[in-house]
Amino acid sequence: MHTAAGNRYDTMKYNRSGNSGLLLPAISLGLWHNFGNANELYGMKEILLGAFDKGITHFDLANNYGPPGGEAENNFGKVLQDELKAYRDELIISTKAGYYMWPGPYGEWGSKKYLVASIDQSLKRMGLPYVDIFYSHRPDPGTPMEETMAALDSIVRSGKALYAGISNYSATQTKEAAAILKKLGTPCVIHQPKYSMFERWVEDKTTADSQSLLDVAGDEGIGCIAFSPLAQGRLSDKYLNGVPADSRVGRNLANGAIQLSDITEAMLEKIKQLNNIALQRNQTLAQMAIAWLLKDKRVTSVLVGASSLPQLHNSIDSLNAAPFSTEELQRINNILGS
Ligand code: NDP
Repeated sequence: MHTAAGNRYDTMKYNRSGNSGLLLPAISLGLWHNFGNANELYGMKEILLGAFDKGITHFDLANNYGPPGGEAENNFGKVLQDELKAYRDELIISTKAGYYMWPGPYGEWGSKKYLVASIDQSLKRMGLPYVDIFYSHRPDPGTPMEETMAALDSIVRSGKALYAGISNYSATQTKEAAAILKKLGTPCVIHQPKYSMFERWVEDKTTADSQSLLDVAGDEGIGCIAFSPLAQGRLSDKYLNGVPADSRVGRNLANGAIQLSDITEAMLEKIKQLNNIALQRNQTLAQMAIAWLLKDKRVTSVLVGASSLPQLHNSIDSLNAAPFSTEELQRINNILGS
C-alpha cells in the first residue's frame, strides 16, 4: 500500500465545478493513452501515485480506454486496490460511456440500456461500488435526450455515481441536457469538451441566442474540464526537431491518437512561434498551453495525459506561471489566427 506524501495538498489549486460542492484539482490526469496493455504496470503505477502525491485527486477514465477497451479501467483498478485503497475518499474517479464498447445494438451511444450496463461493467473492472462522476461520453442523435439524461439520473440515484456529466455536447445540446437534468433533480455538474489553443470551438457563439459552450457552462453553473489541452502533445517543443520515437506520433498508436499527418508545416510554424513566447515567459510551451486554458475562470480543470512522471511534474509546474499580459494574449491570438 502506498504511503502518500504528507505535503500533497500544499501546492495544488482546487477549483469549484460550476455551482456544485465538488472541488477539482486545476490539473487532472486522464488515462486514455499510456494505461492500456501496451504499457508496463510499473510505469502506470509510478505516474498515478506520483500524481496523487502532488495533489492530483482526479483521475478520468472511460469504458473504452485501453487498448483494448476496458484495460485502462482494469489497470487503474489494480493500482487503486493495491496502493490507493486507503485514500478512496480523497479521490474523484470518473468514467464514461458513449463510444463503441461491445457488439450489437446496445454497445454504444446513449440508450438507457447501454449506459446502465456500461457503468456496471466499469465498476466491476475497477473493483468499485461507485464512481464519483459518470458521463454521457457523446450526444446520441438516435436517442431522445430525455432518455440519456434519465439514465444518468437513475445511475446517480442508484448510488453507482455521485455526480452526472456530459462530454462532447454542443452549446445548444448542453442547454437542453442541463434543463432536463435540472428538472429530474440531478444537476449536470461538469462538461468535458476538447479545448486547447488549437481547438477553440467552445468559444464559438453557436446557440440561437449567441452563446458559446463556455457561456452556457458559466450561466448554468456547470463546471468545465478541458480534454487534450496539449493537442495530444503538439503544444510542446517535442516535434520541433523531428518525431521522437517514444512520442505519441512516434509510437504510431491507434484509437484516435495523432499521426504524423496531423503535424503540418503550418502547424509547426505556429508551434515554433508559441514556443518562443513560452521561453520569454520562462515556461515550457506545454506549461503555457495549460496556463492559457486556466486563465478563464469557467475552466475548472485541465485534463492532461502523461507518458511519464517527470512530464506530469512539468505540467503541474504550469500553476506557478505569471498571469498573461494583454500583449502576450494578443500575440498568441495573432499566431493562432483568431
Ligand atoms: P494531452 O493533450 O495532454 O496530451 C497528452 C500527451 O502530451 C502526453 O501523452 C505526452 O505525449 C504529451 N505531454 C504531456 N505533458 C507534457 C509536457 N509537460 N511536456 C511535453 N509533452 C507533454 O491530452 P490527451 O490527448 O492525452 O487527453 C487527456 C485526457 O483527456 C485523456 O486521458 C482522457 O481522460 C481525456 N479525453 C477525453 C475525450 C472525450 O471524448 N471526453 C477524448 C480524448 C481525451 P507523449 O506521449 O508524446 O510523450
